Amino acid sequence: MKTIDDLQVSGRRVFVRADLNVPLDGGTITDDGRIRAVLPTISKLAAAGARVIVASHLGRPKGEPDPRFSLAPAARRLGELLGADVAFADDTVGDSARSTVRGLGDGEVAVVENLRFNPGETSKDDAERGAFADRLAELAELYVGDGFGAVHRKHASVYDLPARLPHAAGGLIATEVAVLKRLTEDVRRPYAVVLGGAKVSDKLGVIDHLLEKADRILIGGGMAYTFLKAQGHEVGASLLQEDQVPTVQDYLRRATERGVEFVLPVDVLAAGAFPDLRAKAPVTAVTTSVDAFPADLMGLDIGPESRKLFAGKLADAATVFWNGPMGVFEHPDFAGGTAAVAQALIDAASPEEGKGAFTVVGGGDSAAAVRTLGFDENAFGHISTGGGASLEYLEGKTLPGLAALED
Ligand code: ADP
Ligand code: MG
Repeated sequence: MKTIDDLQVSGRRVFVRADLNVPLDGGTITDDGRIRAVLPTISKLAAAGARVIVASHLGRPKGEPDPRFSLAPAARRLGELLGADVAFADDTVGDSARSTVRGLGDGEVAVVENLRFNPGETSKDDAERGAFADRLAELAELYVGDGFGAVHRKHASVYDLPARLPHAAGGLIATEVAVLKRLTEDVRRPYAVVLGGAKVSDKLGVIDHLLEKADRILIGGGMAYTFLKAQGHEVGASLLQEDQVPTVQDYLRRATERGVEFVLPVDVLAAGAFPDLRAKAPVTAVTTSVDAFPADLMGLDIGPESRKLFAGKLADAATVFWNGPMGVFEHPDFAGGTAAVAQALIDAASPEEGKGAFTVVGGGDSAAAVRTLGFDENAFGHISTGGGASLEYLEGKTLPGLAALED
């Protein structure tokens, strides 16, 4: 994979496929981690005299302009972080984009509007995607791929465009790939994997693959209930993917055969209803053992005993990969389990407390949780900007956006 250093960028128009898909509350960015992650690449290009055109998707608009998904707030934030003016084009390949790009001087930066306002970006039809990639290619002379969060997508700006322009990987993609290699090749042991979050089916492929690599797999969050059910526990009204129970049973069997330790919660915080995440009013929750689950309650966080159990399983780990919150961390009453696991990763990484473990946080919500719960990002080995992308890599899949940068 070529890097920016292999390109002659001075005075040339460089298209940077970034991932500025930040969470928004109205027009306010609630977590700017992804913008900060691509900043070094943009600064470096600008400092080298490139005319930088930054493009990204945001949310899931339906192939046409939708103001709720405008990149304008992200462009503003990028300008603040760069400490420089950032021009903004209110279309992606139209008149506004073309004139904005024409107006760029050496070392200047522009952002074009959401790639997904164009149906060609995500089209399954190669010709339609290719036609959109042709129009994107007209904007620039060089391509830098640095939108790690989108490399698992076979989209025009990720997959088809690099085939049309001399290309290289940006610093963020180079870092993310180096981290993923440390989680799959020559791994330092013990290797513990913590999985949580809401969707079991999204993460089964990872478990399948990591069963061959990890020493311990800890399961919390909404996905724990499908595992508890597979072990014969009742789970009340908790999140359950009943159709996945047989697959999960098969994993538990394979884990036993391979000597991989599966660790499930022993207690959970449960309530009668899903909490209101906007008002965040206090909720009456009870700690319940997984052996006596009340039929009318749903588990919303791992309980105090489970937090201790999980922390113990991470304390002596040399490598930890964590994806998915342990509970409904968006509500303060159910953020404790996620905070406990974050702290356990920090302790494992600390040379005084643990083994100086290499710790990686993957997943959009997990990364946001770590930041919104007030942890120091620098206390982790790496916080990935790409949830789906890192999971697909860990599943052993070929990622279109990385393959496109290879050749
Ligand atoms: P990530 O983005 O880190 O990969 P996911 O998107 O898989 O994580 O899951 C995050 C979501 O899981 C959060 O919105 C959180 O509220 C939810 N969640 C965690 N635990 C539970 C639970 N016990 N029941 C329902 N939802 C849960
Ligand atoms: Mg998520």
